[in-house]
Amino acid sequence: MSGAYNEMKCMPACKHNPCYGLAVLVLAILLILPALSPTLPQKHDRIVCFVYHRFGDDRYPSTSVPTEMFRGHLAYLSQNNFNVWTMGQAINAIRNEKEIPSRTVVLTIDDGYRSFYENGLPLLEEFGYPATLYVNAQNIGYKAYMNWDEVRKAEKRGIEIGNHSSSHRHFLDIPDLSDRKEAFFNDLLTAQTTFFDSLGYSPDLYAYPYGEYDHMMKEVLKDAGFSSAAAQYSGVLHRNSDLFEIPRFSMVGPFATLKGFIQKSQMKPIEVITKEPEDIVMKNNPPTMIITLDNKHIDTEYLQCFVNGERNCITEMQEGPDYVKVKIVSRDHLPGRRSLYTITAPSKDRKGWCWYSHVWVNTEVSED
Ligand SMILES: [Zn+2]
Repeated sequence: MSGAYNEMKCMPACKHNPCYGLAVLVLAILLILPALSPTLPQKHDRIVCFVYHRFGDDRYPSTSVPTEMFRGHLAYLSQNNFNVWTMGQAINAIRNEKEIPSRTVVLTIDDGYRSFYENGLPLLEEFGYPATLYVNAQNIGYKAYMNWDEVRKAEKRGIEIGNHSSSHRHFLDIPDLSDRKEAFFNDLLTAQTTFFDSLGYSPDLYAYPYGEYDHMMKEVLKDAGFSSAAAQYSGVLHRNSDLFEIPRFSMVGPFATLKGFIQKSQMKPIEVITKEPEDIVMKNNPPTMIITLDNKHIDTEYLQCFVNGERNCITEMQEGPDYVKVKIVSRDHLPGRRSLYTITAPSKDRKGWCWYSHVWVNTEVSED
């Protein structure tokens, strides 16, 4: 840990500072990564990713899935011949242009709670499915969390491990960019060092705490050799997705129904050509989003927009030959820390629904 501390002390604000380069190199070596191609093919395969937190933990109904409901999700996948991959398999297939079977999902779990180990993992084993567990390293071994021995045992039982930060803090709450970069990088290095000490390697998969991120965090992860980073807004991963803001459908509390799981597992992506703003941090409230979408596969006549699940928005549409430009703004002030603008449309072949969402973060509102 002393090496990590030395790197942390010399963390600069500027990327061109040699200390930054050295620290990035240390982090990249910790990752022990193969070279990865940044180019993506122009295919339209999709992978639906889900995120779970707690399992059968009635004390926290808003972040838990009832154990029998989780069994229902897995039984649906099994009865309908879904292909269940880890996030690592999904990223490998996209980056290396491998075939993606038509019904492919990725099951992920954030935070490393013991309720996953006790209630979720045995069900995954029963169905023979893998999953990716994103661990916030600093919490492991404390109170409601798994300990490192359990993390290692879970790994042996088919669970892939990803980095979910060390401290699980709200990095976007640090207003100054260079301070935020220093805090994010130091936290990343601390986490990767802890993973290396505890597992013998450092993961190359990341999931942002609270699904909150910015351009800087994406760039730090790319520089450090990570292969992907998962966010937490709803949507569908596809060949042309930004692999450093992977959408995941949340399966907690009221969203964790069997009906919702079935609908989401069949969802198709809406592909974005351009988006203004790119950033998820809210500058105005309510924020305005202007987004240009590929309309080859969607029936724009039935395109709908939602604000936090309600049709409470003003929408303007302009259709071009191979795109549709949509301007969306909520009718009302957005009260929460995180809010979603969602666009849905039927697919042109009328065989399903397509989905896109953008998460907004209001850093002036603290976590509930
Ligand atoms: Zn988390």
